[in-house]
Amino acid sequence: MGSNATVFKRDKYAGYAHWMIFWGFIVLLIGTAIVAFDHDFLRFLGYKLLQGTFYLWFSLILDIFGVLFIVGLFMMIFRRGGHKPQLDYSRPDLDKEKYSRKGYSTDDKIFLWLLVLIGITGFVIEGLRISADGMPAFEVWSPVGWMIAMGINAGFADSANTLHIYSWWFHAVMVMVFIAYIPYSKAMHMLIDYANLMFKDEMAAKKLSRVSEEQQDISMGYVEISDFTWKELMDFDACTKCGRCHVACPANAAGTDLSPRDVILDMRTHSNECFDTSEWFNQSFTDGTKEKPAIAGDIISADRLWSCTTCMACVEACPVGINHLDTIVNLRRTLVEEGDMDDMLQDALANIGDYGNSFGQSDRMRAKWTSKLDFKIKDVRKEAAEYMWFVGDFASYDTGIQDLTVKVAEVMNKAGVDFGILYEGEKNSGNDVRRVGEEGLFEMMVEDNMETFESAKFKEIFTTDPHSFNTIKNEYPEFGGEYSIAHYTGLLLKLHEEGKLKFTKKLDYKVTYHDPCYLGRYNGETEAPRKLLEAMGVELIEMPRHGANSFCCGAGGGRVWMDDSKLEERPSEIRMKEAIALGDPDHFIVCCPKDYSMFTDAVKTTGNEDKMVVKDIIQLVEEAIG
Ligand code: SF4
Ligand code: SF4
Repeated sequence: MGSNATVFKRDKYAGYAHWMIFWGFIVLLIGTAIVAFDHDFLRFLGYKLLQGTFYLWFSLILDIFGVLFIVGLFMMIFRRGGHKPQLDYSRPDLDKEKYSRKGYSTDDKIFLWLLVLIGITGFVIEGLRISADGMPAFEVWSPVGWMIAMGINAGFADSANTLHIYSWWFHAVMVMVFIAYIPYSKAMHMLIDYANLMFKDEMAAKKLSRVSEEQQDISMGYVEISDFTWKELMDFDACTKCGRCHVACPANAAGTDLSPRDVILDMRTHSNECFDTSEWFNQSFTDGTKEKPAIAGDIISADRLWSCTTCMACVEACPVGINHLDTIVNLRRTLVEEGDMDDMLQDALANIGDYGNSFGQSDRMRAKWTSKLDFKIKDVRKEAAEYMWFVGDFASYDTGIQDLTVKVAEVMNKAGVDFGILYEGEKNSGNDVRRVGEEGLFEMMVEDNMETFESAKFKEIFTTDPHSFNTIKNEYPEFGGEYSIAHYTGLLLKLHEEGKLKFTKKLDYKVTYHDPCYLGRYNGETEAPRKLLEAMGVELIEMPRHGANSFCCGAGGGRVWMDDSKLEERPSEIRMKEAIALGDPDHFIVCCPKDYSMFTDAVKTTGNEDKMVVKDIIQLVEEAIG
């Protein structure tokens, strides 16, 4: 039911339709199997299962699920007949034409109509049988069949027996056609989807796969179709082309060529082509008749791969458990190895390699912001503290963010939190380095940070950076680093609940809140910031896309280090317009340094400075504690 549950969560209409089709199909399948078992096996042995009360209920249940099955199919036909999904998180300005780029095909329509035909002929057979049997009264327990039988009796009673035989054969042939059609059609997803959901990795995207040693000998990324794991290959086959990931994708919304759905479908086409070539995977295209395309670059263009913000919206939206991100990152790893990347990105990675931060500044400058404080923050490498604050590159070096970092320190100090930082010992956490595809550099950052963590004296970590939060929480453990880590909103809420952070001033703002992808969607932390806002007395007005359905600011996955001037519209601008469209809120609240940077910019570039003020939640906390 995982697939149906995901569809329900996103799109109630499709959820009900899927439920009816799925359970209608299952119940009719079981019912048909029971009839076959009874007629073709038990009765030869002198037994009869379908009789008495059991038969009456059996008939009624099959009729009910048969109707649900057909209604569900017609709902999907109606949806596909131009009534495309109105998903709760869809862009108001969705480019309908683009959305239909790889929309529902003839194959999908054949599939649905074949099932309708099978469903309807099933009822016709039932009606003809009841009519041919002389309308026994107990058959009213098959209400649909009974009504059809009454219609037949009105004009064709004499031919009912013959028509029953013909229609039975027609129905049987249609079922055979359907079964034979399964491997070539969308119907295949009925089988593959459930297998795919069974093997769904709950850590998909949150914890990326490491490069195996054998793979490292060939390439750090995927080159051949045989490099993909069986689960990734199954992902390609499982896609139902529902378009949910496509609609949710901020890169697509920004006008790039990236569509997570099309990545999966193009990979499906390519893997089928490799399989179809008589020789196996690696030998494909070696007959000289075709030039072998590169997967990273030709099949999936570099532009598409670099457009991804790794926001995980596609993975979250997919009802059949497809992990688009592992594929994208594994192909990015190939591009990185080939040096096929944006110059700015190359510089940022070089800076991280040389200085441990993307700003290319000396590590001694990392804690320069602390000079603005009137107290000294402990150096946890020398002095024990309860909390080690992992500050992150942006909060440490970005001059537009440093004031917020100072405020966090002041609030924590005021609340009596025993905390320290690593000063120049901290290095980029590696979250975005990994998502860019620079696995070697990521591992270097993890090792360096963990070495420093091990020499430091603290019990728990808190961080102001959701990206660092994700990798330290979910990826460092694979390297032996198990740490208890909180996002600063979680810690602030805890302090408030313990009475250590008192909000003495009620804030009379109408705000909207932006969930950072790496906090809300990746790590399920959507409550703490909201509870904090509530505790401070502000009125929260939610954007249509919030919580796990939040819409990315466009900075993740290393996009913050790439040129975004060619985008039709930056995701942060789309998001700002979504907030402005709410009308009421005058504050746009964030809790991620990159978000603050992106949205303070977007509020200007969209010309909304007079309507909306972008604030980090720490600014409200500072105000509320007076
Ligand atoms: S992770 Fe986000 S940006 Fe990347 S393909 Fe998925 S939805 Fe699009
Ligand atoms: S990848 Fe998943 S969400 Fe995207 S179109 Fe395919 S089934 Fe739908």
